Amino acid sequence: MTPSTSGVSTTSRRAFLTGTAAVVGASSIAAVMPGTLAESAPASVVGAPTLPDYAPVPRSSLGPALNDQGYYVARVQRNLYWVTDATYQAAFLTTRDGVVLFDAPPTIGHNLQRAVNEIAAATGVSNTVTHLVYSHHHADHAGASSLFGKDVVRIGHEETRRLLLRDNDPTRPAPTETFRDRKTLHIGGERVQLAWHGSNHTPDNIYIHFPDHDTLMLVDIVTSGWVPIYNLNLSEDIPGFTAAPTTALSYPWEHFIGGHVGRLGTRDDVGLHQQYVADIADSARTALATVDPTPYFLKYGENSWAAVKTYLDAVTDYAAAPVIAKYTGVLAAADVFTTSTTLVVLESIRLDLGVGSQVHP
Ligand SMILES: [Zn+2]
Repeated sequence: MTPSTSGVSTTSRRAFLTGTAAVVGASSIAAVMPGTLAESAPASVVGAPTLPDYAPVPRSSLGPALNDQGYYVARVQRNLYWVTDATYQAAFLTTRDGVVLFDAPPTIGHNLQRAVNEIAAATGVSNTVTHLVYSHHHADHAGASSLFGKDVVRIGHEETRRLLLRDNDPTRPAPTETFRDRKTLHIGGERVQLAWHGSNHTPDNIYIHFPDHDTLMLVDIVTSGWVPIYNLNLSEDIPGFTAAPTTALSYPWEHFIGGHVGRLGTRDDVGLHQQYVADIADSARTALATVDPTPYFLKYGENSWAAVKTYLDAVTDYAAAPVIAKYTGVLAAADVFTTSTTLVVLESIRLDLGVGSQVHP
């Protein structure tokens, strides 16, 4: 996800730009694409790229300014806090026995402990992180876990443990306290309810409910104020992803921590996200029933894949266009990611729901 430029500190912007230069520099391309691959890399990648323009981001989609170290930390409610780098989010609960951290995104990295230190100093509580809860196994939300050492108690779904043992990444030690359906944490006099309601973004993504703080944390589903990135946040289970917001809204809460973007969410943000995904699904059904595949298959003859690609691209573009028009200026980056999401939604309608399947007579 591309960080917004407004509100990003000079330090983090410089780091981001430096990283970008290293990625797109011609010498780096040569290093990762040796021999003929590097020589045949498109000129648009190794030279000055031609970059498209996109619609402005609505101001309401952006969060507060970051500090000089590139983070923002604030109270959600009482002793529950959230921290962001404008692109990723984590949360922590201060207790009489230490701090419980929820996710450890590597982009926030060492700023996680700085944020905890800042709050602990201001409120006179311990700054020792004693527990770390994983929302799911993905490295972009857990890759700073090892910064908190061996002794922190790691908690997560049993599938998160299985996947982290499989991935064997030293930055993400597997949780040692696991659960299957539900687990209520009682730590330092505080209460947190963890639940698994089936696969969605990943098979292991859980709901983290703070019943005494009017807050729900559910990561990589709703990106408040923004459309999801590629393919509904690169999700593995599209029907599960689509159903997750209804489950989220079945909990009582006022504050939403989605794991991404620079601000917290509300129940209205979750509702707007649901409407956006429902509009894509409706438009995809219309497009599947409207765009005639015949000319694509006549044109490409025995090259079946060329026919499949051009036909599905045409259906996708037909379906995405009215959704992009409706949500531009409403959800940030509607013109950036709606098309890639529309393709997976229409494929899910075909493959998971069976719409359009025809049996040979
Ligand atoms: Zn993820």
